This record gives sequence, structure tokens and C-alpha cells, in this order.
Amino acid sequence: MLDRHHRTPGVLRLSLTARCNLACPYCCPDDRDPPELLTLAERRQLVETAAGLGFSSLRLTGGEPLLYAPLEELISSLQPLKGGEAGRHGNRGPDGQLREIALTSNGALLTAERARALRQAGLDRITLSLDGTDGASVARMAGLTSTAPPAEADAARGERLLQRVLEAIEHARAAGFDPARGELKLNAVIARGRNDDQLIPLAALARQRGVELRLIEFMDVGNRNGWDPQQVLSAAEMVRRIGAHWPLQPVGRPAQGTASRWRYLDSPGSSTGAAPLHVAVVASISAPFCGDCNRLRITSDGVAYTCLFASYGSDLKPWLRPIAAAAPDAAGLRAAIAALWQQRQDRYSEERMEAVGPAAGRATPAEMAYLGG
Ligand code: SAM
Repeated sequence: MLDRHHRTPGVLRLSLTARCNLACPYCCPDDRDPPELLTLAERRQLVETAAGLGFSSLRLTGGEPLLYAPLEELISSLQPLKGGEAGRHGNRGPDGQLREIALTSNGALLTAERARALRQAGLDRITLSLDGTDGASVARMAGLTSTAPPAEADAARGERLLQRVLEAIEHARAAGFDPARGELKLNAVIARGRNDDQLIPLAALARQRGVELRLIEFMDVGNRNGWDPQQVLSAAEMVRRIGAHWPLQPVGRPAQGTASRWRYLDSPGSSTGAAPLHVAVVASISAPFCGDCNRLRITSDGVAYTCLFASYGSDLKPWLRPIAAAAPDAAGLRAAIAALWQQRQDRYSEERMEAVGPAAGRATPAEMAYLGG
């Protein structure tokens, strides 16, 4: 199944909630869910149908997905869709099979018990988000700042969140998510003038903990975050700054991947048997990778978007909860998702580059909190 730019389906990003327990100003999540949240059975139906069309990788996101109470139940209910070992090692499994289930979370609610429960339920990979290594920066980037002084109170709130995320990294590791196998990673959004002073400290922290850090350029998703191209610190600049501290070797961006990876030359080589450590950059603004994008996004209330920067989505609820029937219309849902993909022609990030400027040719774009990153 190809879209109009000959791109194949691969990753389904399913938002479980639009709510978040943080209020990061670059994301601006909602404080309540949309009225017509999908049920667990409807989400399962979506994943099964999408897997049947070739979306073999599932990423659960939000809002904050750990706020979704039946998360573990959803993950375990999806296990029968996973293929055997053969499916899991290739880039895509046979149609109908899920190769992996991953989760992106801010980690604030990831206790040791929750990490174990997620692993036991069959979660394969987890990415935690953290945008700084000191209380004041973390508070600023997570929207924990109050309008009134004293600033020390903000820094203390940021410090508490930082400690919780650092603990979450260790809980995830202890639960069996092995960073050396790419099962545990750290995301950080870097915005010039906001937290670019955190770039080297974050890299040092990730190195010390043996976790791959994925640095994301500040993106113009949604209408709320006041995006300004001046605030984008380009991936090339991030690599240059990190490379000035620790020598790096380019590894490249895997086909259909979002991140370009660089190997730390002072990390153990493959000849030693130990996994080398990498840092990665997601250059959606400065070096877009629309050409092989294989991602479909579905919001927590069942609206599908074929681009992170899209303005319009397609509501899949008419097939998930048809008015005249008690059960979902699985065949209709499959046809609807297939048609959506086959008509897909968005390449917004590339068009932004061509038009030089934000929101070129776009109506009101959808919010990051619905689309899940
Ligand atoms: N709440 C979860 C978390 O924090 O990871 C999952 C949802 S969040 C929308 C997913 C990822 O998108 C996070 O790593 C977040 O930092 C990133 N993100 C959100 N807004 C962004 C923006 N404007 N530019 C770049 N990345 C952004």
C-alpha cells in the first residue's frame, strides 16, 4: 500500500489521552480529555486493523500515556498481534503482525511497580522525555513555573520532577528495558535561548547513564507554542556543540527513521562486545525527512492524521462505533484507513523549507497534545 509519494506504512502513533500532568510551553497540552475518548476495545480494533495494513510498529503516546489507567491492559491485549521472532527482527513484520510496542512518556508517573507492570504486559521499548538537568531549567521547560516569585519555589518543583524522571530511568532499566538494545532512550527538546545551555549537561547525563539521547529541534506543531524560527537550534549545531566535547562519528538516519545517529568515539567499540553509545538528533525543521515518512497518527478520540503538521484529520469513529450496529465495522475501517493512506500527499516540513517560514499554506494546524509527537 503506497501513498502518493510512494511511501509505505510503518508506524502507528496512538495517543491515549490529550491530557498531561505537565504543561511544557513548547507543547501546551490540554488539561482535560475530549468528550468522545475511544474505549480500549476500539483502540485494539484500530491497532489490529492498522497492523493488517502494514503498520507493524505501535507507539503509545499522548498527552501523557501513563495517565491512561488501562494502559497495561491495552498492551497485554495487543500481544496476540505480535509476530514471532522473525517478524520482530525485520524492519516490518508480515502484514497483520505487530513487530513492537513502544511508549513515550515524561516519566513523572513511572514508579518501579508501573515499569514492571508495563514490561510484564509486553511493552518492548520506552522513551522518557527530559529537557534539562537542573531544577530551574526543568521547571521552565515543563511549565512548572508560577507567575509570582519566588523563583526558588519553581526550581524546587523542577528539581523534584528531575529526580522523579531520573528514578524512572532506573526503574525502567531494572524492569528489563535495556538501553544497550535500544529499549530505553531519552528525548529532549532543545530551544535556543530557552534550554540550549542544557545541551551538554543532558548529553553528559545520558552518557553517564548509558542511555541514547535524542535531541529534537523545536517544532511548529499546533497554534499554541508561539513558535519562532529564531528559537530553533539546528540539529547540525547541536551535533557541533556535542562533538566539541566528545568526538563523534556519523552513523546516519535509518530508513524511515526520524533520528540521525552519531556514535561517541570514546564509547566501547563493537569489537569489545559492549554496545557503543550514540546520541541522535531529530532535524524535522532544518533537514526534513518527509521523503520516507511511514507514520500515521490517531488522536485519543479516533481522528487520524497523516502528518504531524496537518490541519485536518479524518474521524474514524463512524467505523469504530457505527450508529446502526453494535459492533465496529472492521472492513469499513480498513477501507477508510487504506484510502487515507493512498490519498496521502503531505510533506509539510519539506514545504516549510521551500516556502521559508512557519505555517506556509496551512490552515489551523492540529495540536501536539492530540498528535503525540
Ligand atoms: N507526554 C509524553 C512525553 O512527554 O514524552 C508523550 C507526548 S509528547 C507530545 C511526545 C514528545 O514530543 C516529547 O518528547 C516532547 O518533548 C515532544 N514535543 C512536544 N512538543 C514539541 C515541539 N513543539 N517540538 C519538538 N518536540 C516536541
